[in-house]
Amino acid sequence: MGRRLLLVGPPGAGKGTQAERLAKALGIPHISTGEMLRDHVVRGTTLGAEAKRIMDTGALVPDEVVVAMVAERLAEDDAQCGYLLDGFPRNDAQADALAAAVGEEAIETVLYLSVPEDELVQRLLTRGRSDDTEDSIRTRLAVYRDETEPLIARYQQVGTLKEVDGLGTVEDISARIFDILAS
Ligand code: AMP
Repeated sequence: MGRRLLLVGPPGAGKGTQAERLAKALGIPHISTGEMLRDHVVRGTTLGAEAKRIMDTGALVPDEVVVAMVAERLAEDDAQCGYLLDGFPRNDAQADALAAAVGEEAIETVLYLSVPEDELVQRLLTRGRSDDTEDSIRTRLAVYRDETEPLIARYQQVGTLKEVDGLGTVEDISARIFDILAS
C-alpha cells in the first residue's frame, strides 16, 4: 500500500504546486477537486457550467457534488496504491464523508501548508486564474477561515496533522515536506 496523504491550507498557499511535485515524486495520483471541477468547465459539461458560476464567486460547490466526484476517483485503479488529496476535504461534512469512505486512520499524514494572510492576498492577486478577482479572493479566504480551518484542529486531534511553513521558494517548501514524510 502506497501513501495516503492530504494537503490542506488556505487559498494561495501553493497547495497545487506542491501537490503536483510531491505526487510525482511518490508515484501516486494527485487528486485535486479544484482541477477536476476546472476540467468539467473546460469540457463544457452540465456540472462544469453549474460549478463555474459558484467557483467564480469563491463559494464552495455543494458537498454532494465533490464527495461523489472524489468517491468515484478513489475507486479507480491507480488510487488503490495511495493518493494525495489536494483541496478536499474543505469542511466537516466532506471530512466525515472521507472518513466514512476510507476510515479516519487510513490517511497517514495531513500536511498543513501555512502562510500568513497578507502574503496569500498578494499571491492570489498576481496569479491570474479566472476566479482570482478581489471579491472572490475575499470570499475564498472567509470560506477557508469559517469552514476549512477547523479541520486543522480535527486532524490535530486524530494525530495525523503536520504543519509545513509555506514561506520560501518552491524547492524549500518541497524539501520541508519530504523531511516530514521521511521522519
Ligand atoms: P482550488 O483549485 O482548490 O482553489 O478550488 C477552486 C474552487 O473550486 C473553490 O473556490 C471552490 O469553488 C471549488 N472547490 C474545489 N474543491 C472543492 C471542495 N472540496 N468542495 C467544494 N468546492 C470546491
